[in-house]
Order: sequence, then C-alpha cells, then structure tokens
Amino acid sequence: MKYVSTRGAAPVLDFEEVLLAGLARDGGLYLPETWPQFSAEEIRALARLDYAELAARIARPFVGGAIPDDELDGIFAEAYAGFDHAAVAPLKQLDRQVWFLELFHGPTLAFKDMAMQVLGRLFDHVLARRGERVTIVGATSGDTGAAAIEACRDRSQIEIFILHPEGRVSEVQRRQMTTVTAANVHNIAIQGTFDDCQDLVKAMFNDAAFRDEMRLSAVNSINWARVMAQIAYYFAAAAALGAPERAVSFAVPTGNFGNIFAGYAARAMGLPIERLYVGSNSNDILARTIATGDMAMAEVVPTHSPAMDIQVSSNFERLLFELYGRDGAAVAALLEGFRASGACALEAGALAALRQVFAGHRLDDRETVAEMARLYRATGETVDPHSAIGIATARALAGDSETPVIALGTAHPAKFPEAVELACGMSPDLPARLADLFEREERCLVLPNDLSEVQDAVRARLGPGRGRLAS
Ligand SMILES: *Cc1c(COP(=O)(O)O)cnc(C)c1O
Repeated sequence: MKYVSTRGAAPVLDFEEVLLAGLARDGGLYLPETWPQFSAEEIRALARLDYAELAARIARPFVGGAIPDDELDGIFAEAYAGFDHAAVAPLKQLDRQVWFLELFHGPTLAFKDMAMQVLGRLFDHVLARRGERVTIVGATSGDTGAAAIEACRDRSQIEIFILHPEGRVSEVQRRQMTTVTAANVHNIAIQGTFDDCQDLVKAMFNDAAFRDEMRLSAVNSINWARVMAQIAYYFAAAAALGAPERAVSFAVPTGNFGNIFAGYAARAMGLPIERLYVGSNSNDILARTIATGDMAMAEVVPTHSPAMDIQVSSNFERLLFELYGRDGAAVAALLEGFRASGACALEAGALAALRQVFAGHRLDDRETVAEMARLYRATGETVDPHSAIGIATARALAGDSETPVIALGTAHPAKFPEAVELACGMSPDLPARLADLFEREERCLVLPNDLSEVQDAVRARLGPGRGRLAS
C-alpha cells in the first residue's frame, strides 16, 4: 500500500515511512492511495472473530506486508490484552434505535487507548527491525499525555517525554501520568500554561540539530496509523448489528475529527454505513460548516467536554481531500485561505458530497448535563459529557429512520466526576485498575518555562548516544 499527501506535493511513502513520519513534508496528512475493499462475504466473516483478530484483519491491507500477518496479529492481540472488558469494545442497547459502543475500557479510560496501544507497539516493532530508537516528545493539557505514556511505557526502542502545565491538570490526570514509573517514561511539569508546553515542544522540533541528535518523534492525532487502528470498531459494531445485510449509522462526539474519519474510511471500504453524525459542544465549527458550507473559526470556549474544545479539526483535512476528488492543490489553496483569514467556503460539489454522508448537531454545557441526567433517569447509565453529546446527537438526527444508530462512548464517566456529580447527583467509582491511584508514588520533574533547561533535561536523561542509531 502506498500513501499520498492531502496537499499533493510530498513524496509517496509506504506504510512504515508514514508511520514514522506523521505529518507530510508539504504540511499535508497522509492517506492510502486507494481504499481497500471488503466484500459482503468478508464482512460477514468478521462477526466470528474476537476484537483483536478483527482489528488485525482490517489493518492488514493498510500495512501492505510491511509486517508479516502473524506478527501483526500478535501486536493487536497484545495491544488489547490489557483492556478491562472481555469484549474490548462492548455494545449496549439504550433504546429502540440507539446503541452505545463503549470504547473506554483501556488503561487510561478514554477511546484514545484503542489506537495508542496499537501505535506504541507498531513503532517499537518497526524501530527494532531497523535498529533505531526514537524520543517521543509531546505536550498535554491532560488526557492525550496519559494515553501516550501508557502506549510507550516499557517499549524498548522508545523514550517518551510528556510536558504538562504544573498545577493546571486535574489530580487524576496528573497521577495517570506521573505514577507510571517505567524507566523510559519522563514527566516534566512546566511552570507555565498548556500553550507554554506546546511552544516548548514546537521549539524542540524546530531546533534541527537537537531534533536530529535526539531523533525526536510524535504520536499525535494526525498519524495515519492511529486512524487506521480506529476503523476496526466501526466494522465490529456494524457486524454485531447485522452488517452487511443491515446498514447502520454512527454518532461521534468530535474534536480533531480523527475518530469519525475512521468511520468514513470504513464506509469507503465497503461497510454499509448510512450516515455519520458529528456531535459538537459549543465549539461547533464542524456542525456550522456542514449546515452552512462556510468553515469559519471562532474563539475556543472551555466546556464540560474539554477533548472537543477545538476550533481547527486537523483530521478534517483528510475528508476535504476526498470531497475535492483527491485534488491536493485544491485542498492546499482552500486551507491557505482558511489560515490567512480564519474562514473559507466549500465548493458546491464538495458541500453536497459532505452532506450526503454527514450531518452535525451541537449541545452547549447545559444541554449536555441535561442529556446525562435524562439518560441516568431513563436507563440507570452514567455517561461522561463527551459520550452524552454523541448519544444526544444520535437521538436528535436519527429522526424516524429505521436504521440503528451507534453512539460512540469516548470516555469512562469516572474521568469526569464533577460533571457526572452535577448531572446525576452521584460520583462514579474509578475502575478497579485505578482504585489505588491516589496511593501510588509519583515521579515528575518540575522545570521553569525555559527551552534550554528542558533540552538539557532531555539530553541528560537520554545519556550520550542514547538517541542515536543503535548498531
Ligand atoms: C479525543 C477525544 C474526543 C475527540 O476525538 P477526535 O478524534 O479528536 O474527534 C472525544 N472524546 C474524548 C473523551 C476524547 O478523548
């Protein structure tokens, strides 16, 4: 399988190169040159596999032989072995039409684990074979850092440094990161804001000598392999409800558009998905774009669903590439205009193609809490604010269609106890695996917001030659 950039001006790469590269050299994102197709017979056969087997089967054509099938199966088996639920991603019926797919049974209680657990192992596997090591650096405002740390801990070819703003992440979020004491995990609390952390990471990448010396790399949400690993649960859930004989729709609480784009990919691969519903909070650029055809940036406002407090959804670029007939130059021009003025208008043909598959719905914080409370009264289920937006979106947009709608559950309610308390008047328990989180020892380096101090700390922890090619 070959991969092309959404801006059409970067070299065509193979799977292994795309995995390690992340962003394309022309600033675009990588996509497979063609969508592999799954026949009705092949989709039917998926229903007999367990989740890890199914996910490996879906990944195979994308990996394109870069990793032998039996080794790929092993990577997926290991990635999901540590999940708290035997089904990995259990599917629950909420009412006549709406189903709830729980994607939060991994180590950090959010759906990011579904892909990150695979990504860390894919990195390790490919690097070991090439005799290389990398140093992952990232900034986090809370959740992504924990998922990245859990994905990279104890991986032999990876050192990971995660910067978080000191005192500005919740205690659970901090402890999920700082209590991981694996030797290759390094937490740094910066005396500053999340933006300061992000600027430090950017500055480290922009320092070419440092970047090369340390072999810096990232595991951010634009990495193709993360999207790839998410396609599987669309197939698994649809097959469980009767695909390929019966079509389904999905409702997805959306931030960076990586999760729902995996649904689009599943549809392009032959899975009968009728509609994809985008759930937004008050930061609703995507819902507005679908409704009006104008993509216009607004100020980011903080909400109960912080993982969706985003104005520029980086993975939306992948969909634009598809909507514009894979014309990289047209996508580059459109996004240049958007970056310059904060707004751009979709072409009529692209907008029609968008609306054929996608619809959007928006909930503010009050409506989100009301949905959490309603669901608790009606079913006894406590859900987190992000998941509640997905469920409310499913109910609002399904109308009187007979097609079942699967709402994606993206975080465990215990990750957002304040909102659950507000909506349901009770506080959800942490799952057993985290029950002793508050007793565990923490390890974290505190540093001022100063580039050279952070670089010195990274260098000191890697030791001489640690970042270089191993022989
Ligand atoms: C990351 C995240 C989202 C948004 O997913 P995208 O792929 O960025 O659209 C939604 N909910 C939770 C809990 C998340 O962590």
